Amino acid sequence: MLDNAIKILNIICDKGYKAYIVGGFVRDYLLGINSNDIDITTNATPKELQEIFDNACIPSTDYGAVTINNNSIRYEITTFRKEISYTNNRKPEKIEYIDDLYKDLERRDFTINTICIDKNGDIIDFLKGRDDLEKKIIKTVGNAMERFEEDSLRILRALRFASSLDFELDNEVKEAIIAKKHLLKNLSYNRKKEELDKMFSNVNAKKGVELLLKFGLDKELELDRLKDINNTESLISIWSILNVTDIYPFNNTEKEMIININKALKVNNYDALSLYKYGLYVNQQAGAIKGLDKKKITRLYNRLKIHSKKDLDITSDEIINIINKPPGEYIKLIYDDLEKEVLYNKLKNHNRNLKKYIIKNINKY
Ligand code: ATP
Ligand code: MG
Repeated sequence: MLDNAIKILNIICDKGYKAYIVGGFVRDYLLGINSNDIDITTNATPKELQEIFDNACIPSTDYGAVTINNNSIRYEITTFRKEISYTNNRKPEKIEYIDDLYKDLERRDFTINTICIDKNGDIIDFLKGRDDLEKKIIKTVGNAMERFEEDSLRILRALRFASSLDFELDNEVKEAIIAKKHLLKNLSYNRKKEELDKMFSNVNAKKGVELLLKFGLDKELELDRLKDINNTESLISIWSILNVTDIYPFNNTEKEMIININKALKVNNYDALSLYKYGLYVNQQAGAIKGLDKKKITRLYNRLKIHSKKDLDITSDEIINIINKPPGEYIKLIYDDLEKEVLYNKLKNHNRNLKKYIIKNINKY
C-alpha cells in the first residue's frame, strides 16, 4: 500500500507540485495497523489534480477532498489550507488554499495526525507527532480549549482515537473536553453519527462507550441509554440499545434492523417461530445483547424446517382451490398457521400433509 501511495506522490511531484501522505495512514502505518484509505496533502488545487488524474472525483463541496481510486486503494487528496474563523464551532467560515505544508499541519486536530511521508518514503514530523505516538497520547495541535471551540467534533475524534488506539488523553485535552462539551449540541447529527459509527464499530468500542460516559457526553449527545450498553459486539446492536432513530440520521436498512432487533429483544431467541420471523442475524444481535449462546442460536436456526414462506410445500393457488373462495385475507391466516405448525414440528412439510391440515381446519378460515 505504501509503495503504491509513494507512486501517487511521485506522479503529483513530477508535475512540479509538493505532495505528502498524512493523517490516518501514516499514524496507523507507524503503529503497524492496516488502513483502508490514504490521505494526501498537496499544494495542487482540485482543478490541477483533475488534470493529473483522469479518474479524479472532484469534491462535491467547495474545498472538499479530491478522491481517486488506484489499485483498489482510495485516496483522499486535499489541498494545503488555512481555516479562517469558525462559525458556531461547526465548520470554518472561510478556507484559503496556501503553499505551506507546515501551516497545513498546524490546522490539523491531533499531533499524531500530522506526521507525513514524502515521495522518498521519508518521515516528516514537524509537530513531534511521533513522540506522542510512542507515548500513546492524544494531544491537540496547539491549545486544546481553542481547538475544541473551533470544531467540537474534535472532542469525539479525541475519544475515538483514545479508544480505537487504546491511547491516553493528554491532561489538557481532558480539561478541554469537560469545559467545551456543551458545544457538541451545535454539531449536525450527521457529523456526530459519522464519528460515533466509527467509534462503535471499532473492536475497542467498549472503551469508547466508557469514555463517553466518563465525560458525561451521553447527555450532550442525547444518548440516554448509553449506560445500558454492556455488549459492543456490533455497531447495529449498539444503536439498537441506544434507540435514537428519531434523533440521528439512519438509512432505511439500519432503521428496519434496529426496529427488528428491539422486537427480537422482547421474545425468546431460541424459539423456532422467533428465529423464523426475525431471521438469523437479528436474533444473533438480540441474543448478544442478552448474553445468549450465539452458536446455539445459529444451530437452532439452521435446523428450522423452513426458512421462508417459499419453503412450504404448497402454493397459494392450491390453497385457493381448497378453500374455493376468491383470494382474500384467509390466505395469510392459513400461511401463518402452516408456518407455525411446521416450525413447531407438529406438521410435516409435505404437500399431502399440508392440504390435509387445511381441510381439517377449514372452519377456522
Ligand atoms: P481514519 O481515516 O482512520 O478515520 P484519519 O485521522 O485519517 O482517521 P480523516 O477523517 O480521514 O481521519 O482525516 C484525515 C486527516 O485530516 C486527519 O488525520 C487530520 O489530520 C485531519 N482532520 C480530520 N478531521 C479534522 C478536524 N475535525 N479538525 C482538524 N483536522 C482534522
Ligand atoms: Mg483517513
